[in-house]
Amino acid sequence: MLTEPILKTTGSGAHDGTIWKPGGYVSPAAIASIIKSELGESQTAYVASLQRSGNGWTLQDEKGDEILHAEAVILANGLDAARMAPEASLPMRASRGQISFLPPLTRHPLPDLPITFGGYLTPPVPVTDHGEMHVLGATFDDLEEHTGDHWRAFSTTGHQECLNSLARVQPEQAAAWRDSRAMGRTGLRATTPDFLPMLGPVTSENQIDAQAPKPALETDWSAGKTSGLFIMAGLGSLGFQSAPYMAEILVALMAGAPLPADEACRAILDPARFCWRGKRRGE
Ligand SMILES: Cc1cc2nc3c(=O)[nH]c(=O)nc-3n(C[C@H](O)[C@H](O)[C@H](O)COP(=O)(O)OP(=O)(O)OC[C@H]3O[C@@H](n4cnc5c(N)ncnc54)[C@H](O)[C@@H]3O)c2cc1C
Repeated sequence: MLTEPILKTTGSGAHDGTIWKPGGYVSPAAIASIIKSELGESQTAYVASLQRSGNGWTLQDEKGDEILHAEAVILANGLDAARMAPEASLPMRASRGQISFLPPLTRHPLPDLPITFGGYLTPPVPVTDHGEMHVLGATFDDLEEHTGDHWRAFSTTGHQECLNSLARVQPEQAAAWRDSRAMGRTGLRATTPDFLPMLGPVTSENQIDAQAPKPALETDWSAGKTSGLFIMAGLGSLGFQSAPYMAEILVALMAGAPLPADEACRAILDPARFCWRGKRRGE
């Protein structure tokens, strides 16, 4: 359950639009620190490669040294997940996103609640190294190529695009912020061709080739489950909404508990759905 300070319920305030009182906003830094404190024993390392070995998987660092051997592995590493399971041909793309940090305005006060208008603007929240700032988001730029660091640079064009979008609902505030310093953060989202997450066992293209085609809303995770390799990635721009439910499905699958998702729901999340689709089309 989310409690203060992660979730602040919105107050009331006179403003055009709909005020949804149970709504709120999340602080990724606060959530990350709580999850970390509840993890117990944990280890942080960059995993360069994954090898099937014995009855499980070996995670290796860049020198090829073993980091860990585990019976089951969940690839929950964003865009890098596709690289670690090449046999599954997971079609993931990068969408660059940028958010702007804006100082509180004394002359044009805003209601103490997040505003959404296609984009979003939060009330002032603690931002590392910047104090209390409004967060305005976000841009969406599809990237053909996301290796290297070129996507990290903050773009003033993107910043102005977000202010243009804000100007439709809060013109005075957008105008007041035009001349303030453009700053913020950039990141990469992992997206899929149908904008739905990839969740479930990783099945290789060869395993799918060996089977007869099946209808779109049918899926069988029993074969993939035995491989001990799972994925939860491709969460796109909605990861904070979808991740808790995705995680519940995956944990139930791995523990052999009843799944909180019917077959049609599993089929539309199945990481192998793109290969199955190709097979149905005779590709
Ligand atoms: C600008 C921007 C604004 C956004 N706004 C929202 C929003 O308002 N609401 C919302 O719900 N979502 C939002 N999102 C999307 C959200 O951030 C993602 O959906 C979410 O972070 C996906 O979580 P993830 O754990 O799958 O991947 P990530 O958050 O990308 O995490 C993957 C992790 O794996 C690590 N990793 C990668 N490769 C390796 C490796 N080989 N070895 C070890 N570790 C590795 C990375 O360092 C990273 O820590 C936004 C994204 C961006 C970029």
